[in-house]
Amino acid sequence: MLVLRSIFFALLLPGSATVLIPYFILSRRGVPHWDAIGLPGLVAVALGATILIRCIVDFARVGRGTLAPVDPPRALVIRGLYRYVRNPMYVGVVLVLLGEAALFRSTDLLLYSAVFFLVVNLFVILYEEPALRARFGEPYEQYRRSVGRWIPRRNAMKRAGLIALLLILDAPLPAQMPRTLSANDQRARDIFEQLININTTGSSGSTTVAANAMAKRLTDAGFPAADVQVIGPAASKNYNLVARFRSTGMQKPILLLAHIDVVEAKKEDWSVDPFTFLEREGFFYGRGTMDVKDGAAILVATLARLKQEGYRPNRDLILALTTGEEGGSDYNGVQWLLANHRDLIDAAFVINMDAGDPVILNGKRLMRSVQASEKVYVTFKLEVHNPGGHSSLPTNDNAIYRLAAALGRLSAYEFPAQLNEITRASFARWGQLQQGQLATDMAAVAGPTPDTAAIRRLSAASPLYNAQLRTTCVATELAGGHAENALPQSASATVNCRMLPGTPSDEVQSTLSRVVNDTTVTVSVVTAAVPSPPSPLKPEIMDPVERVTKRLWNIPVVPVMETGATDGLYLRNAGIPVYGVSGVFVDINDIRAHGRDERIGVQDYYDGAEYIYQLVKAVTSR
Ligand SMILES: [Zn+2]
Repeated sequence: MLVLRSIFFALLLPGSATVLIPYFILSRRGVPHWDAIGLPGLVAVALGATILIRCIVDFARVGRGTLAPVDPPRALVIRGLYRYVRNPMYVGVVLVLLGEAALFRSTDLLLYSAVFFLVVNLFVILYEEPALRARFGEPYEQYRRSVGRWIPRRNAMKRAGLIALLLILDAPLPAQMPRTLSANDQRARDIFEQLININTTGSSGSTTVAANAMAKRLTDAGFPAADVQVIGPAASKNYNLVARFRSTGMQKPILLLAHIDVVEAKKEDWSVDPFTFLEREGFFYGRGTMDVKDGAAILVATLARLKQEGYRPNRDLILALTTGEEGGSDYNGVQWLLANHRDLIDAAFVINMDAGDPVILNGKRLMRSVQASEKVYVTFKLEVHNPGGHSSLPTNDNAIYRLAAALGRLSAYEFPAQLNEITRASFARWGQLQQGQLATDMAAVAGPTPDTAAIRRLSAASPLYNAQLRTTCVATELAGGHAENALPQSASATVNCRMLPGTPSDEVQSTLSRVVNDTTVTVSVVTAAVPSPPSPLKPEIMDPVERVTKRLWNIPVVPVMETGATDGLYLRNAGIPVYGVSGVFVDINDIRAHGRDERIGVQDYYDGAEYIYQLVKAVTSR
């Protein structure tokens, strides 16, 4: 039936417009005759007719309707040619008419084409568009905003020639063709683009600008202005955004966290402009695309989406977009909020976008990490003082030699291996992804009585495994002496340690003194530790993570202890558990965070937005 209806209306409407009416116009001046078979005219007619047929087919196949206003499609047709312009069918008719005018060298037909186009324009603007808006609502609005009425937007234009060819050959459109994004993807992309284009570096940027822009996104989506705050210490140009999605539930809120400051980026170091959002060959480029404006944009998009869907969480959701994580800002936003507005961000636990990335290895989506713990950062200074003297009269007691000997002993020392709930779980899951000896050793260290030989092999196999197993301390800076012809009066070295959570830093300090084994070498603290207890792998977070991961990606969930540190440590130290659960896959062999040409995969971004949306729903609807 639909086929017959489609053919009937095709003959009736475009048929009249392109055959019947032109025939009457031409025959008014006698019998129409082919004046000359102009190739351009023929091509225009053929192209126009092909476009028409393609549209009618899409209307029937996708929209389950016909081109007639009395029998319209039941679904919004945004596929095929409708991805490039909103009215390809009329474009087809006008092309046919212009071709006919050329073929018959008829100025009357040319005039008729112009009148037809004007009338159609009025019809489209006055009737069709309001009707579609009323019929399809927001999805149509999104479509109208992203696709032109008559003229394809820039990206589509470039491929116009190719499209014409494909149409004639009726070939399927290749996958890399610009696709029409879903309304949710489009919103997530728009927010991301806006955020990347705002410079938030410590030197020349401002997180206040970014926080205000994101605040507007939320109030536009329906958040009451009173629940969206842009705050920070007076006189700072780097404010934070804190917003609350209210519920009627009594459980403690969940805090969603991302920082919006970024590491410096010099234009001359990059092959593209770091502060201009760019989509190229399947990647989004720009400073912060990976660290971690992707996460910030996804959180804003998620809350806007949930709000517009009328979602009711069973507990409050708090969004905090903070400054100062990268150290370039005048203060740290998370620390400041904890000290000054703890009530605003106090939560049962935190989902942090800045850690726990799902991992791609060799082009394959390998695993979903959850950062539940991080090592604790502490820095010491080893120092030797000496009376010194003339370098022509050396003595046995030399500050540089003493320090060098002390560092030699330190380099040979290894802190004892120690596993905790999280590293045991990581090795157990990693082991399942490995083969051979590595798999056996990982399973062995994950067991209740870790095998010392396995520990030794794993430590030797990779600095990453070694750092998971023990506290590490390493010399990072060296200084000494004051003149080339003088005995050194002092020598010092910086030793940076990453302690397993729960290790007291004075214990590490006394271990260093013992290993150095020289009372003239003093060991003092340069940067004190901020304790960061591991966050327990509780079902209220791990179950939803497992569920959503299985549903969307079907890959293993691996709890991890990060060897670096994030803002999460301040929250952990304040007694709020933090789980790093980013949604965006990163290729572990192509990590460009803090580096040049920072980027993430386009599809990875959209998938990440969907993941976080589903995760946020899962943790607030149990
Ligand atoms: Zn970061």
